Parts: sequence; structure tokens; C-alpha cells
Amino acid sequence: MPSIEYYIFRILRLLRKLPINLLSFGSTTSCFLEFFKDFDKVPAVQGIFGEKATEILSQLRVEFSWVSGYMYVDGSDGHLVISKGYLNNGNKTDIYLDLIHELCHVKQFMEGKELFDPQYDYVERPTEIEAYRYAVEEARRLGLSEERIRRYLRTEWMNEHDFCRLAKSVNVAPTSPHGKLEASAVRKGPK
Ligand SMILES: [Zn+2]
Repeated sequence: MPSIEYYIFRILRLLRKLPINLLSFGSTTSCFLEFFKDFDKVPAVQGIFGEKATEILSQLRVEFSWVSGYMYVDGSDGHLVISKGYLNNGNKTDIYLDLIHELCHVKQFMEGKELFDPQYDYVERPTEIEAYRYAVEEARRLGLSEERIRRYLRTEWMNEHDFCRLAKSVNVAPTSPHGKLEASAVRKGPK
């Protein structure tokens, strides 16, 4: 069985090609697996959906949007919306981890969970913590450093206090153990 690195390589290679392909599609809705080929074979995705990964991803629709933010699951019917600008300009590793995060939301939606439950803060919402845990687990499996994972978690709409709460919830130390200052770069991220 091919290693996970093989799949990651194929996916990242595909993502690099994607912006060119997208130009010919306009603002469209398509089958997830048409664009993210073999994603159903990624162990992390199989970890989310189990044996139904292929069936679910072949039925999942993905909308490439010119307007909306970065990436999110539409709460009305559970399809995935991805900003073309983010796909074109975002960091490919971040995009890959965001896809893992959002696929977790797809699973939650299918289970009837409320994705945007307003009684919780974003960083305390159980659906978000579960989605970030999958992404962090995958980031570690890819060999990303803890500093790089912190950078992944630190998104533009999150203040320092919320970032620390989220990091602790997903078992990431909010600061370097050596007390070293890290570049507090923010990134664009999922919902
Ligand atoms: Zn989310």
C-alpha cells in the first residue's frame, strides 16, 4: 500500500495545478473528487469517514467561489465552498489542512450537528475543536514542526487569548517551550 507521503505528494501536486484548471470553469459547483483526486484514499480522510470515504466524497459538491472568504461548509445543504482567491494564493499546506478540517465539518453536518452553534465562542465550539484536532493530527503526521502548527492555528480573526484557548484545546502548546518569540504571522483560514 502506498505511503501517506505518496498521497500528499499527489495532492499537493494537484493543488499546484489547480488554479490553471479553475480558470476554465467559472464559478461552478462540481464533484469534490473530480478536483481533489484520490482524497478518499488519504488515511486522514478515511479516519474521518471510515469505509464510506469514497461514496461520501463522490457525492460531495464543491463550489469554487469568487467572492466568499476562504473555505467553509454551507450550513443549508452541507456542500463545500472554497474561495478561488484562497486556492490560488494560499499556502498549499494550509489549504490541505483546511480541507481536512472542512471534511470533518462535512461529516458533522451529515450527523445532524449544528456547525455554527452561536451559544459557543468559535474557539470553544465542539465542532471546531474536533475539526482542528483532525487537522493538527494530520499536520504532525506530515512532520510539521510545532511552531509551524502554531502558525497554522493562528488565523487573522483570532486574538491572542482565543488562539491560546484553541491551541490548548487541540493539545498544542500555545508558546514555544524555550520561550522563544515566534513571528506572529497570521494566516487566512477555514471557518
Ligand atoms: Zn471550522
